[in-house]
Amino acid sequence: MTCPNCGCPVVSFPIPASVSDCLPDDRPGAVLCTQCLRVAPTDDPPDDYPDFARASDAFPADGETAAVLACLLALVDRLALHRADADAVAGVAERHGVDVLLFLDRLAADTAVTPAVDVSRRRTQLAQLI
Ligand SMILES: [Zn+2]
Repeated sequence: MTCPNCGCPVVSFPIPASVSDCLPDDRPGAVLCTQCLRVAPTDDPPDDYPDFARASDAFPADGETAAVLACLLALVDRLALHRADADAVAGVAERHGVDVLLFLDRLAADTAVTPAVDVSRRRTQLAQLI
């Protein structure tokens, strides 16, 4: 499976139950592009979390935590529409022990990816939100 945006490989993952209510799409899984980091819903995710390091080393080793952050990326892409949900998902990530803003900093600094969204700008907006 490849990314509809840039044609690069994607990783598929199940949506963690802790954030499923916060997403605009109710499908059980999503795919994350390993290059442009676009997230798209999928009907048929795997049972287990993939190795998100295939996309970026900025993701934590714990698969569920990484999946929560991937969901956050989906929301910050359209932050104006999804402020409350992005705030809620960032809160879940923080309860998993993640510094969300530090994660976005690392992602913005990772030269192995070319994010479709301006991660630094979204980080600034999210910092004002949370
Ligand atoms: Zn892509």
